[in-house]
Amino acid sequence: MNGSAAQLRLQTPVEELPHVGPRRAAAFRRLGVATLADLIKHLPHRHERIEPEAPIARLAAGAVVSARGEITATRVVNRRPRPRFEAVLLDPTGRLDLVFFNQTFLQSRLRVGMRIRVQGTAKRFHSGLQIANPKWEVLTDEGEAPADALQPEGGEARLRPVYPASEDLPSSAIEKTVLSVLDAALPQIDDHLPDTLRVDRALPVLREAYRMFHRPADEEEVRAARRRLAYDELLLLQLGVQMKRAYVRRTRRAPALRWSEAIDGHIRARFPFPLTEAQDVVVREVAADLQRPTPTSRLVQGDVGSGKTVIALYAMLMSAASRHQSALMAPTELLAEQHFASISRYLAGSSVKTALLTGGLPEAERRAVHEGLASGEIDMVVGTHALLSAGVRFASLAVAVIDEQHRFGVHQRMLLREGGEGGAMPHTLVMTATPIPRTLALTVFGDLDVSTVRGMPPGRSPIRTRWVPGDKSAEVYAWLRTRLDRGEQAYIVVPAIDGGEAEDPGLLTDAPPAGGDRERSLKSVRSVLRHLEEGPLAGKRLASLHGRMGREQRDAVMERFRAGAIDALVATTVIEVGVDVSNATVMVIEHAERFGLAQLHQLRGRVGRGSKASVCVLIGDAPTPEAGDRMKAVAEQSDGFVLAERDLELRGPGEILGARQAGAAQFSAARFPEDTNLLLLARRDAAAWIDKSPTLGMPEEALVRARLMRSHGEALGLGDIA
Ligand code: ADP
Ligand code: MG
Repeated sequence: MNGSAAQLRLQTPVEELPHVGPRRAAAFRRLGVATLADLIKHLPHRHERIEPEAPIARLAAGAVVSARGEITATRVVNRRPRPRFEAVLLDPTGRLDLVFFNQTFLQSRLRVGMRIRVQGTAKRFHSGLQIANPKWEVLTDEGEAPADALQPEGGEARLRPVYPASEDLPSSAIEKTVLSVLDAALPQIDDHLPDTLRVDRALPVLREAYRMFHRPADEEEVRAARRRLAYDELLLLQLGVQMKRAYVRRTRRAPALRWSEAIDGHIRARFPFPLTEAQDVVVREVAADLQRPTPTSRLVQGDVGSGKTVIALYAMLMSAASRHQSALMAPTELLAEQHFASISRYLAGSSVKTALLTGGLPEAERRAVHEGLASGEIDMVVGTHALLSAGVRFASLAVAVIDEQHRFGVHQRMLLREGGEGGAMPHTLVMTATPIPRTLALTVFGDLDVSTVRGMPPGRSPIRTRWVPGDKSAEVYAWLRTRLDRGEQAYIVVPAIDGGEAEDPGLLTDAPPAGGDRERSLKSVRSVLRHLEEGPLAGKRLASLHGRMGREQRDAVMERFRAGAIDALVATTVIEVGVDVSNATVMVIEHAERFGLAQLHQLRGRVGRGSKASVCVLIGDAPTPEAGDRMKAVAEQSDGFVLAERDLELRGPGEILGARQAGAAQFSAARFPEDTNLLLLARRDAAAWIDKSPTLGMPEEALVRARLMRSHGEALGLGDIA
């Protein structure tokens, strides 16, 4: 034991906490816990009801029970449809059978001789007692549950915090450390919320919230504590976002564009179809933004094919009507060219002068475009990130549209937005086909307004989606052949390039540990291409597409596919979002269990772009119930927003957004969708607060400000503001 509890300060390093030796301290640091304060902020991600343990002989069938013992036998039963892992648990009083469905990988984790603790619903099974899919934890000397977690027989159930943990630092060890320092730490924790706000919102004092979360007396305390801590997380982020926004409003100017019925009529006359209801709504929102002298930042989200391009073009034409310039930036040359072609079609015969600017342009042409942009002669430019290069100067850029923003680095986005001089900044529209649940958009893209294009333009036939087990793939390809015979085209997506590793590590959502048999048998671009060429699709024109090919090589293949010179593409997930090949009517996804919900939906969006009926086939077995849920959800639901909400429920915000935007969405207490109302409340409170005190500069705001800067200062670039 190190220092006595009385000497502990919030800044005390973990090494100096009681019962923490160098090895454990290192493990704490790997979890991001370096000081006592960090430990207190290391929140349990849930609380578990611990049933009092009982000897196996006394367990009652039909009840949630808990017992401990030694594993004396295990086996894997590899029988469809539900392969399972079985184990026998013995204590001095009897035998308990454990069965884990769809978790055969447990074979390598639970071995004969181990002591474990299990909890679950006991059932009579044949003559014995069984628990199906029990919760379990390995009991080691190191990780033995704290003494007070072991309830005497017949005691009350207890709520036990479950901490984010690691292999060498189990939750029970974290709990032990927390319990030993909590009382010393709590009195030192000051509240950053003004009392009036805290009382109005019926929130407990901060130190009491920490006490209740780490050492709850009952479920009600957990609830109250979590609400306070979640509110804090959401409020701090919203304060940061609103502070940033208020700053931009104060210091930046964008051209206020003109709008009238006549201008609106002229713009609409350019489109060969009336706008849909959903497009109309968004166009009105955008038009209102652009008439203001402060820079717009709006995210326009809509499923692939929902018709976002005309919304972008509407904004760009509003710019032209006010004699300003506009730019549309796409993530690849192919997409830039596709946009340029469609925009040129819409604007044929108009006086609006357009240009295309990509990296592949010959030097002389590029220079001409640069000059046209600098002189103001070009009204509208479509391009790739070549638009961000040093030589590009605009005479008067009023509207910048960024298509498929998630493909760009955030800082590129900033570059474009903050490129102006003297506080001048274009209005920015960000278009994305990756639907983000509204709540999440408010948090991550809190500095953007969000418009949503729901539904599809008329005349689109819906995509039928089917999920089939892995052993049905021969039938799928036999059927695919008949579609190709009719002159239609197909995409076949696989997770890996050439056996072994998946191309996108993000795919392995709930795959078993690497190195298992499944890993070796992962289908790849190479193996599937060979198999199809030699067998089911012999004689068809096949090609492959993956991330190890260069940009130009990929574009060339896509171009040939679009021209109809390839019947089927075997590809990884690199197939571009937004690529429009209306003759492609079939999407086959192999190992669909490996893909996230949003990703499956995105991939499906590559077909169904024309009037022909399109089909998406998910081929995959479900290694976990969640994987099955995902494939089922995609098969049953075609609305990307509904799926996005579902995804949020299944995986939580961090997973959905990935490392990319993780900074802003790492919540430890807040949960979605449950906390949507709390988010809206925090957002309103933050807006009112920043309205009164735009930089949180009052002396009594020092604490909230310090905490805000610490958690979001860097990610939100608040440095210059404060
Ligand atoms: P995305 O949202 O994926 O960018 P696009 O803007 O490319 O979608 O539009 C998809 C297709 O729908 C295009 O072929 C476009 O011409 C067509 N489209 C867009 N709006 C309408 C509409 N209001 N009525 C009919 N077709 C439309
Ligand atoms: Mg598009």
